[in-house]
Amino acid sequence: MSDGDTASLNWYEATRVASPARPRLNFDADVDVCVVGGGLAGLTVAREVARRGWSVAVLEADRIASAASGRNTGFVLPGFGAHIEDIVERVGLDHAKQLWALSEQGLDYVRATVAEAELPGVDPVPGWLHVSKTDNDREVRAEIERLRWIGADVEFWPAARVRGELDNPRYFNAAHFRRAFHIHPLNYALGLAALAEQAGARIFEETPALEIDPAGVRKRIATPGGRVRAAHVVLAGNVQLGELMPRLAATLLPITTFVMVSEPLGPQLDDVIRWRGAVSDTNRADNHYRIVGGNRLQWSGRMRAWEADPRRIGRGLVNDIRRNFPALGEVEVAHLWRGTLGRTVHRMPQIGEIERGLWVASGFGGHGLNTTAMGGDLVARGIVENDQTWRLFAPYELVWAGGRLGRAVAQGIYWGTRPADRFAQALARRNERARARKAAKLAGRATAVQ
Ligand SMILES: Cc1cc2nc3c(=O)[nH]c(=O)nc-3n(C[C@H](O)[C@H](O)[C@H](O)COP(=O)(O)OP(=O)(O)OC[C@H]3O[C@@H](n4cnc5c(N)ncnc54)[C@H](O)[C@@H]3O)c2cc1C
Repeated sequence: MSDGDTASLNWYEATRVASPARPRLNFDADVDVCVVGGGLAGLTVAREVARRGWSVAVLEADRIASAASGRNTGFVLPGFGAHIEDIVERVGLDHAKQLWALSEQGLDYVRATVAEAELPGVDPVPGWLHVSKTDNDREVRAEIERLRWIGADVEFWPAARVRGELDNPRYFNAAHFRRAFHIHPLNYALGLAALAEQAGARIFEETPALEIDPAGVRKRIATPGGRVRAAHVVLAGNVQLGELMPRLAATLLPITTFVMVSEPLGPQLDDVIRWRGAVSDTNRADNHYRIVGGNRLQWSGRMRAWEADPRRIGRGLVNDIRRNFPALGEVEVAHLWRGTLGRTVHRMPQIGEIERGLWVASGFGGHGLNTTAMGGDLVARGIVENDQTWRLFAPYELVWAGGRLGRAVAQGIYWGTRPADRFAQALARRNERARARKAAKLAGRATAVQ
């Protein structure tokens, strides 16, 4: 990879659909709802509020979807960042089933929006394989049973089927989530912004909310060029909300992850990776990949809780690819970028009204494509229709994320699990080879007896 412009340009920026620049706010505005943050959460709230006939303004400090929403891996999955067993333990089985159903509604929202509005350049591709690198069929089958019981549409794939699609001897079984899909997230966000505007929302770019006075029936929001007065304010600023709402920002742990897209690969790509859906293997924050642009490999991972040199990370990602798919040969980085997500301590999103007329739609973590859609819709319904479904998230309060210490702990867990994962994987492969040797020996003896 060279250090030039095109090498560092985000692939999504390089393939984005045309979208107009939006003006800065340079007057005083009076609206029913003011949304702070033009990522997927804020745009969904704005669209759903406007569709219901209320006036709404979105204030975006930078450009629409310039943060996590336009930089992520693009997997639209059911569920949440929190493990389903932890959710059941915390809220009980019936409540957990309701939450899971909401997470699936978020996924349906994205699918339906793309299809109904025929959003250009979003290119949804079905299926997500969660691949295991250890020989743990029994555990995975049990996990799949639990997920089905909660309401997930997931099936077991044995190792032979997985290896038929992905030429990687390190791979064993997989859970196949049939309803999941992957998309071009920036084009989805740009499409969503256009739909919000068609419904009547006004979007202002390069317009940071500098101060909020949430007291009183009409809340006041100051920006550099004008003020907004609104009956409801929605905080959808994710980790960038920092100075505006330090106490809210302190409930999020900023986690930076890297994404690369390769130069076009030759015919060997189809021989090695035949599956066109999304794939994650069990290396926690590592190894989420898919084919984009017909013949390029997009690969993400290498979580960091603080700044890192992207070139080193790029080399690390290429090594990850080489280790998993040596038959791909030389893989060169064409695009490499980073994105920062905001993770809550409980790994569940923050959705709901925190003070009268002051709403939050945040903390979607690494699982934000379905949950921003669902959370944005719930908040809009809560505001306009007094719908109380958002209260299902009430058990997940705003918990301090631990500041620098929290970041160090998150990074330590990530680094700590990599060697443990590798050891388990090596053991699984050794066991498999031993089983194969034993089977060959038995077959040899059987032939000798005949
Ligand atoms: C590298 C990476 C990979 C990921 N992969 C996936 C994936 O495959 N699947 C998945 O489901 N999720 C994934 N995620 C998570 C997902 O992208 C996020 O959860 C989601 O986009 C969060 O959306 P958001 O609208 O809450 O926040 P953001 O997209 O961060 O938007 C918040 C916006 O608010 C603006 N803002 C903040 N403060 C102010 C202010 N004071 N005034 C005005 N504007 C303000 C910011 O400029 C920003 O544009 C990934 C995230 C990253 C970083």
